[in-house]
Order: sequence, then C-alpha cells, then structure tokens
Amino acid sequence: MTLPGAPFVARRDGELELEGHSLAALAREFGTPLYVYSRGAMRAALAGYRRALHGRPHLVCYAMKANSSLAVLQTFVEAGCGFDIVSAGELERVLAAGGSADKVVFSGVGKTGAEMQRALEAGVRCFNVESRGELDRLDAVARAAGRRAPVSLRINPDVDARTHPYISTGLKSNKFGIAHGEALATYRYAASLAGIEVSGIDCHIGSQITEVEPYLDALDRLLDLVEAVEAAGVPIRHLDLGGGLGIRYADEAPPAADELVGRLIARLDARGHGARELLFEPGRSLVGNAGVLLTEVLYLKRGTAIDVAAGAARNFCIVDAAMNDLMRPALYEAWMAIEPCRLRADAAERWDIVGPVCESGDWLGRDRMLVVAPGDVLAVLSAGAYGMSMASNYNSRPRAAEVMIDGPRATLIRERETAGELFARERLLAR
Ligand SMILES: *Cc1c(COP(=O)(O)O)cnc(C)c1O
Repeated sequence: MTLPGAPFVARRDGELELEGHSLAALAREFGTPLYVYSRGAMRAALAGYRRALHGRPHLVCYAMKANSSLAVLQTFVEAGCGFDIVSAGELERVLAAGGSADKVVFSGVGKTGAEMQRALEAGVRCFNVESRGELDRLDAVARAAGRRAPVSLRINPDVDARTHPYISTGLKSNKFGIAHGEALATYRYAASLAGIEVSGIDCHIGSQITEVEPYLDALDRLLDLVEAVEAAGVPIRHLDLGGGLGIRYADEAPPAADELVGRLIARLDARGHGARELLFEPGRSLVGNAGVLLTEVLYLKRGTAIDVAAGAARNFCIVDAAMNDLMRPALYEAWMAIEPCRLRADAAERWDIVGPVCESGDWLGRDRMLVVAPGDVLAVLSAGAYGMSMASNYNSRPRAAEVMIDGPRATLIRERETAGELFARERLLAR
C-alpha cells in the first residue's frame, strides 16, 4: 500500500522524501522535532474542491485551526481562499498573512463581545452564530457600533457523522449549533433584530468523516430548513456545508474532495437549489497529509524478552518529540503512520514510540514493527493538521520549528522556540 500523503510523501532508494526533499537531510539541517510541510500537497488538496465547484458561485474557507502557521495561511491567501476562524486571534493571523476579512467566516460557540467587536470592525464576511444568546449579544455589539452584522445560523442537523465522539459535532448531544427544531423560530427572531442581517445557513457535523452519506443527510436537513425559512419571508443567500472530510491515516478510504462536493452539488441541483452560493470550511483535508513531524530516536529501552512475550513489559523507543508537539495520539488515541526516514536492513521489532514528557499517555504510536537505532530520524506522517496548531509548552518544552517545501526550496517558516521565550511574560514576586 502507498504511504499516506502519497505522491508527495514517497520513498526513493530507501530514503523517505516529502515533495522530493530528503526528510533525513532536513532533520539534520533544521534539527528535531521538526514539522515539514509540502506547499504542493496543500495546493493539490485545494484543487480537488475547486474542480468540483468550478463555474459555481463559491468560497472555500480554510478552517485554519487545523494549522494556523502564517506561511500556511499565506499559501491559501495566494490561492484565493477565504478562512473559517474560531477566535479573534485567528482573525489577526489571517490579516498578518495578507488575507482580507471580507473572506472570513467566524465560527465558534463562545465568541466574546470583544471578539465580535473586532471582527465587525475588520469587516468579516459572516458570523456563524450558534445560539440565541449569541445572536442577542451580536445584535447589541453591532448596534453600538452603528453596524449590521451579517449572520448565518449554524444548524445542528442531528445526523451521526460516525466518527470519533470527540470530533463529532452534529448530534443533538453535542454543544454545537442551533437545534434543527428551533431553527425556523431563530431565523424569524434574527430577521427582527436591527443589528443583524441574515445572510446564510451553515452546518459542520464533525471531523475525519470518511463517508458521503452523513453529508447528504445534513444537506437534506438544511435544505428543508432553507425552504421553510424562505417561505417565512427571510431570504438565505449562501449555504455553508462546513468541513470535516477525512484523510487517510492508516487504511481509511474517504471520498476525494471532488467526489464529495460533486455528490452534494448533484443533490442541490436535484432539489432546485443549484444557483445558491456554496461555502465549504475544510481544514484537515487541505493540510493533514501535506505535513510530517520529524523526530530523532534518543534511546531504546527493551523489556526482558520473557516479560514482553507475556505482555507484562513493552519495548520503548524514546524519541525527542512528545505529546506537547503532537497531541492527537494522546488526546484521541489517534493512529498515525510512523516511518523511518532511512530504511535499515535488520529484522523489525515491536516498539512503543514514546516522548520525554512525564505522562504515561505520552506516546506517538504503539505496537509498531520497526527497525530503529538511537540517532535515527522517524517521520510521523499525516501530521499537517491538528499537529502544530495544538502544540503546547507542557514540561517547559519549546515548540518545534517548521519548514515549508515549495518545489526546490525548503524554507524555515517558524524558528524553534527558546526556553527564554517560554517565561518571557512571567514575573517574580517582590522579595
Ligand atoms: C474544525 C472546524 C472545521 C474544519 O474541520 P476539519 O475536520 O478540519 O475539516 C470547519 N468548520 C468548523 C465550524 C470547525 O469547527
């Protein structure tokens, strides 16, 4: 089977490469832990959405919480994308990367008044509102600023995206969105508010979704509402179907973006809504397989053969990247492929790949058959999404450096953090 991230991730003469660059060589040049991204892979992933949307009014809003590094944002700014943001901090990042607010949709269940004010002043394209309380708050903020806030209501369609419970968002039991049954009344209410201008409707049913059907179910539920809301005299301009398309980490086989979008468009056309402007908010599917995390093997710590055979002990491969660098395995028990950057000829052994952090949950992979030796560099594949953006400084570990590959060039896009930066804003008490 090909590697996740292929064809941008590939092995040539035993050397693991990303967009033609030797990952072992990049680790030597820039140090580890190191995130490396392929710009070509990001552009190729975006092209899938674009192909299916060609000729229709649309905006692909990259859900930047997946990876909000400035050079990544810049890549999508240059490609003409909009952005889906979930905080005022993300808005500042978009602006710093050269993006414009009028292509930004602002999602999230807990926007503060200050965030609303800043987003209004910057001129975001739309607020994706998730509750009546938020609607009231936004109305007040907008009126105080002498403006009308463009609004889409995020509907919770109550469909099961059949994904990990932590990343499923479209069920009644989730905190997200306005319940389908309350949506019509909430639209009527929104239309009555002087500071609110109804602009669209949206949903986002979860993440790492590998089937088309949950999307079609959600679309049908949304279109039922659009018809009811418009019949009540409130026009809806755009339809935002959120993000959530999965990628291949192991042996998943998610639909390609163009297939997913094509199926959704076919349903829209069939129901007579083909002319509506379409928004999507993909995160993971644009960047997940465009990045890898490189880490150096520090020590091998073997259990005794008898204990390991009895399941009473394990073999640990201790590496210099940890849960603070890449949280997905610890947080979701996520499985991510781990590949040596250079193949060795010896017999493989079973290893748990663990980091230096003082938590038993600090692992990157378990039960992996690998040939490893101290000093080797391993690559965690599919690490472009929810890797660096979720990194922390736990154990006072400076965050990793990042490199972007663009054809022949490999550019350092984030310097490795220093220990001094970690406590630069802290103060000692008076003695
Ligand atoms: C996280 C999120 C996305 C992106 O999800 P992916 O699974 O990364 O595609 C899109 N929209 C909203 C509202 C989100 O919270």
